[in-house]
Amino acid sequence: MIKFLDLTAINTSFEPDLSQAVQRVVSSGWYLLGDEVNSFEKEYATYIGTKHCIGVANGLDALRLILKAYIELGVMHKGDEIIVPANTYIASILAISENKLKPILIEPDINTYNIDPYLIENKITERTKGIMIVHLYGQNAMHPEIQRLVDKYDLKLIEDNAQAQGCFFRDKRTGSLGHAAGHSFYPGKNLGALGDAGAVTTNDDEIASIIRSLANYGSTKKYINDFQGLNSRLDEIQAAVLSIKLKRLDIDNQKRREIAQYYCDNITNPAITLPVINQTSVITDTISHVWHLFVIRHPNRYLLQKYLSDNEIQTLIHYPIPPHKQGAYKECNNLSFPIAEQIHEEVLSLPISPIINDLEVEKIVEMINFFNID
Ligand SMILES: *Cc1c(COP(=O)(O)O)cnc(C)c1O
Repeated sequence: MIKFLDLTAINTSFEPDLSQAVQRVVSSGWYLLGDEVNSFEKEYATYIGTKHCIGVANGLDALRLILKAYIELGVMHKGDEIIVPANTYIASILAISENKLKPILIEPDINTYNIDPYLIENKITERTKGIMIVHLYGQNAMHPEIQRLVDKYDLKLIEDNAQAQGCFFRDKRTGSLGHAAGHSFYPGKNLGALGDAGAVTTNDDEIASIIRSLANYGSTKKYINDFQGLNSRLDEIQAAVLSIKLKRLDIDNQKRREIAQYYCDNITNPAITLPVINQTSVITDTISHVWHLFVIRHPNRYLLQKYLSDNEIQTLIHYPIPPHKQGAYKECNNLSFPIAEQIHEEVLSLPISPIINDLEVEKIVEMINFFNID
């Protein structure tokens, strides 16, 4: 069986360093707000290219805390609107609605699966305070048109970088392109912890200090609470693990690019739509994708998925139901986003990871090229 993602194999490839790092924390007797978190925050800020990194409990909290900080600052108010792509993972949208802000959904571009920058301006109103771009599947979503709108309407640009650690837009990493960015280190992400973990990166001193406080009970000094905060801290064990894994992230992302290139060069089944890569344009080149997921489209993707599964190849769907069709957002169920809906109906994610081997990739390509429903 070729697994969609073999986390055991990935984490074993970091041994013995990983176990030694965990053991070091266990022996230290210090498990929260210590040296491991401080070091990782510095390393990750340097890696991303921002002044600040604040470790938090997970990626959803990273995004929630950014918006909550803007509310504390008086930059955003209840009922204000945040632009977000309609086909994102639901966490991006939950972060907005949980803060009593209003998500304004925008259709994606069918070629990149990222927000269509040219559909945004029409949806900007007096109440629009920010744009949350999502670097979906690991591909940069930043675009000169988005920067133009951010400048013209004085909006906050928030990046959901949960799927794109290490990705570039031109000479800067995603996560350093806007006012603040949320990162997830969920185990299956390109930089994955051994449990939940996340971070915020920003160049803004004020936002950084408010987020740091909000994530620790709204406290600036022990037992002095300036805000109604929450408990959302990165712990020492996860930080120690992430420091080890960060050192290999660029190498691992490069392996993902090679696998993506092999898939694109060798999958020839005409019924399959491949992701577009290596097309140099204003926003796209080889380093603007870190291939968190390799997503193809097929008009009958469940048949293809079953066929692959019968042939010992595990695939997943990211994602089967768009957020506006979920029970969580009943008020949006009657809205229509045909491109997002088509994507959700047709996508299928193939196995991709830094440790998948050539034989496995060759077998996947061969099986897909044999697939024929007629
Ligand atoms: C994984 C993910 C998140 C949430 O991260 P968690 O660490 O699971 O909370 C947010 N947005 C996107 C696009 C994601 O893929």
